[in-house]
Amino acid sequence: MVHRRGGVASPERLRIPCQRADRHKRFAVHNGSIQYLKGIGPQKAAILKSDAGISTIEDLLYYRPRRYIDRSTFKLIRDCFVNDVVTVFGVIRRVARSGKRKKFLEVEIDDGSDTISGIFFGGIQYFERIFKTGEHVLFSGKIDFYRKKQIVHPDFDFVDHEYTITSINTGRIVPLYPSTEKLKQSGFDSRGFRRILRIALEFYLDSIADPFDSDFLKRLDLIPLRDAIVSMHFPETLEATEKARRRLAFNELFFLQYYLCISKRHVQEENRAGRPAYSSKLFDEFLSRVPFQLTDDQKTAIDEIRRDLENPYPMNRLLQGDVGSGKTVVAIAASLLVNGRNEQVALMAPTEVLATQHYETCTALCPPGVNVQLLTGSVSKAEKELLYRQIAEGEVNIVIGTHALIQEPVSFQALGLVIIDEQHRFGVKQRATLRGKGTSPDLLIMTATPIPRSLSLTIYGDLDISYIKTKPQNRLPIETLAFKESRRTGIYNSVNKYVSEGRQVYYILPLIEESEKSDLLSAVETYHHLQETVFPHLRVALLHGKMPAEEKDAIMKKFKERDIDILVATTVVEVGIDVPNASVIIIEHPERFGLSQLHQLRGRIGRGEHQSFCILIYSDSISAESKQRIEIVTRTDDGFVIAEEDLRFRGAGEIMGEKQHGHTGLEFTDLSSDLNLIMTARAEAASIVNAMESIDTVIDALKDNEKADVILQGIRKKRILSLLS
Ligand code: ADP
Ligand code: MG
Repeated sequence: MVHRRGGVASPERLRIPCQRADRHKRFAVHNGSIQYLKGIGPQKAAILKSDAGISTIEDLLYYRPRRYIDRSTFKLIRDCFVNDVVTVFGVIRRVARSGKRKKFLEVEIDDGSDTISGIFFGGIQYFERIFKTGEHVLFSGKIDFYRKKQIVHPDFDFVDHEYTITSINTGRIVPLYPSTEKLKQSGFDSRGFRRILRIALEFYLDSIADPFDSDFLKRLDLIPLRDAIVSMHFPETLEATEKARRRLAFNELFFLQYYLCISKRHVQEENRAGRPAYSSKLFDEFLSRVPFQLTDDQKTAIDEIRRDLENPYPMNRLLQGDVGSGKTVVAIAASLLVNGRNEQVALMAPTEVLATQHYETCTALCPPGVNVQLLTGSVSKAEKELLYRQIAEGEVNIVIGTHALIQEPVSFQALGLVIIDEQHRFGVKQRATLRGKGTSPDLLIMTATPIPRSLSLTIYGDLDISYIKTKPQNRLPIETLAFKESRRTGIYNSVNKYVSEGRQVYYILPLIEESEKSDLLSAVETYHHLQETVFPHLRVALLHGKMPAEEKDAIMKKFKERDIDILVATTVVEVGIDVPNASVIIIEHPERFGLSQLHQLRGRIGRGEHQSFCILIYSDSISAESKQRIEIVTRTDDGFVIAEEDLRFRGAGEIMGEKQHGHTGLEFTDLSSDLNLIMTARAEAASIVNAMESIDTVIDALKDNEKADVILQGIRKKRILSLLS
């Protein structure tokens, strides 16, 4: 089991386990407050902390430039010609709406040699706000010519005016740091950062210890930590910045994986050997009742779970499967296996509608004699009291519910399995609370958001993963079509046709931020317009996140019961709703959604026997890139492919939902291209953790803040811990 290649650094050589309490002292210097730095008083320190998250000198040393300017791609505007891909730099002379009907914004910059315009379609108000005459800005992109030189939708960056072409021409690659108005006012523009970084490096670089020895680094082709920090801030070449990034990424990945491996092993050391073996009678009966043929992936997932349940330690498994892939059946199978050894199951879903849906499926499929109950916020007080008692006395075998399940009064006689559906809707704490109601219960979490491998390994690295990639066979593929707004009338006609054939329709509006008033207003307006003007003869209803929960549930119920033809909704319908008769989904402004989100929405349909259609209505003026992204959704139905694209274009937050996992705590890692590095870091960390005789000292140390600092050195400890705890 213990896998140790020659030359793998031992824990001692890695300086990881930290029985020696004095170990942290050597870090005290650079872990000291940023105020120790020459020229930084309490006021500046406060701003660095609030606006850049820098409170220690170490934080400053790890402050990552947002980009580098390389003079080799830098050109005088005079020397730019059509189709050149360039970066130009100048002062903003003019910001004006132009074109027919003032459809685009023109931002003209001047670098002393000539002028050029950046052209922006869409989001004009936003761009008008951020581009101010007199500011210095970088534009990158391809040179076009229409009456004069221009770049359409350039990449842009605001730059301090110190970086004139001449200073760049002195031959440096210049880092640009993230900054804010407040920081700039205190002297921390990019130039200011460079100044304090030079001081910090001079006095404190030596106090940074490399956790890895040189053999280890050589084997993995990594540069020493100090070199990496220097190259990040004062690089000689662009390649050096990438080498530095890779080393710093490895650091954070290694320690993250180290932590995940420890945490995985920790669970495996929870002893459950005393549990009764299960009887598969209920499970076998269930299999004979399932009204369809299980897909191969469903069977495999069930087998994996079965094997987990035979281990002497608790299951800790993530079930990933695209919307509609049939995860619920797997969850029920797992439940019955656990019931088969006289233990109870709790299944938690994020909304009342979903919990009810699971409850219905479960009661329909479970063999007689299995006591399934529903516990949600809307259960009456008296009924709740009764349920609490029945759960505590072990009469209830499977309880399905919402957050109501984690309330204090709920206690189990023998909770053996916790299932969390749509797990990204829950915090890690809630998951732990529910699990805490049993003694080391098995855990199965489910998610319908396909997650690229790199992200799974980082976020769920302590879990085993089952995938359901194949869809049930009876499904007709969904046809996805994208139309320009001008085709609206035709689209409305088709809606009439589908409804007259008895189908139901989702009509989705972008309300990305449920709090944005203008969006909400337009949702309400659109609803009125559709009901009163376009479809007066049909039953149209509105569903949005600002409604009280009961109202939402009531509307969903009516839709399920076919009392509504067209459901105008925001993304609240995104989560697992199953209405097989709804076979059409229309999505307005698809460019305002992430691709994974579009795919999730599309998963609402294609669940019945009817041919389903997903119709995307985009406005005439979207950018070429947006159009390309929309085309990806029309081309493929593979959630994993789509998630990879999202990761590339919009980052991890898009896939995981900003709220829970807005970012992964990783600062130097690029999840869309660092898969190999992630796997290397994982293998190295695992071989060290596996070789340990006991992880007790590490677990103890992790509970001790100062020691944890040492163990998790090299990563931003706070972020990682908050992600995992
Ligand atoms: P999700 O993975 O999105 O939670 P569900 O479990 O809600 O998917 O399943 C979606 C639908 O597919 C349900 O109506 C379910 O009964 C049905 N289903 C599940 N597995 C199969 C299968 N193997 N063959 C046919 N239909 C299936
Ligand atoms: Mg589901």
